[in-house]
Amino acid sequence: MNKDYMITIENLTFRYGQDQAGAAAVDHVSLDFPRGSFTAILGRNGSGKSTLAKNLNGLLLPTEGVIYVDGYDTRDDDHVWDVRQRAGMVFQNPDNQLVSAIVEDDVAFGPENLGIDPKEIRQRVDKALESVNMGKFRKKPPHLLSGGQKQRIAIAGVVAMKPECIIFDEPTAMLDPKGRQEIMAIIKELHEEGITVLLITHFMEEAAEADRIVVMHDGKILLDGTPAEVFSHEETLKAASLDIPLAVELAGKLREKGIHVPAGIISKEEMVEFLCQYR
Ligand code: ADP
Ligand code: MG
Repeated sequence: MNKDYMITIENLTFRYGQDQAGAAAVDHVSLDFPRGSFTAILGRNGSGKSTLAKNLNGLLLPTEGVIYVDGYDTRDDDHVWDVRQRAGMVFQNPDNQLVSAIVEDDVAFGPENLGIDPKEIRQRVDKALESVNMGKFRKKPPHLLSGGQKQRIAIAGVVAMKPECIIFDEPTAMLDPKGRQEIMAIIKELHEEGITVLLITHFMEEAAEADRIVVMHDGKILLDGTPAEVFSHEETLKAASLDIPLAVELAGKLREKGIHVPAGIISKEEMVEFLCQYR
């Protein structure tokens, strides 16, 4: 186990239920996530992404293999809360994550469970709400908020636990484009502040924002590399029912026509930039 890694997954296999002969939801996966890194995990429905995520903070325990979170083995009963505090989880549906009738109580829920001093909890709640631009909603009931606002509150609740790593499991899947953009902006800020980010998504444009993309297929790792590397494997991605980002596809078609498009153009913005200065 290497201390430079926030999370180390050693040969993880996970099967649901007692059926040891059945297909594994996660099948012999080994991965390391360096401290401060930003990784996107891509894969079609049923490829094992959520199962992997839930293994990372001890919500599920490996059938085989070991996971270390900041050096703690997730199977170790004495360190369940050390693992949960370090690796926060944000899920798809914010309604399932909000438990209180008032926003600020919700954000305080996690730190209260950690047994933090009430005075410090108040400071953490203020700061966490600020970091998701929801400070002025602190006295509101969560059910009156939009989906994107609720998701921001859910993120604040995780941030208030001062995790070193946050695992986002399709956090924008239920949001409109505006809500999605706001959540992505917050995720990028958290990464810039030094938090290790794992972003599970099926939006290519979101995955392209990460420094690294891991593609899962049938419980296994299909590709692992920088966005430019991963998106260059068009055929492999298509075979895994995934598309490449529009700008990457366009770059390929332009190259076929003999136009020299530099490697590494992934986002629409980069493509527009390139086209505007093309002569
Ligand atoms: P993803 O998040 O990529 O959509 P999941 O991790 O949810 O994939 O699912 C991986 C596999 O495990 C799928 O075949 C799915 O049907 C199965 N699975 C997921 N959750 C359960 C569960 N609670 N019980 C049994 N099988 C499950
Ligand atoms: Mg899932």
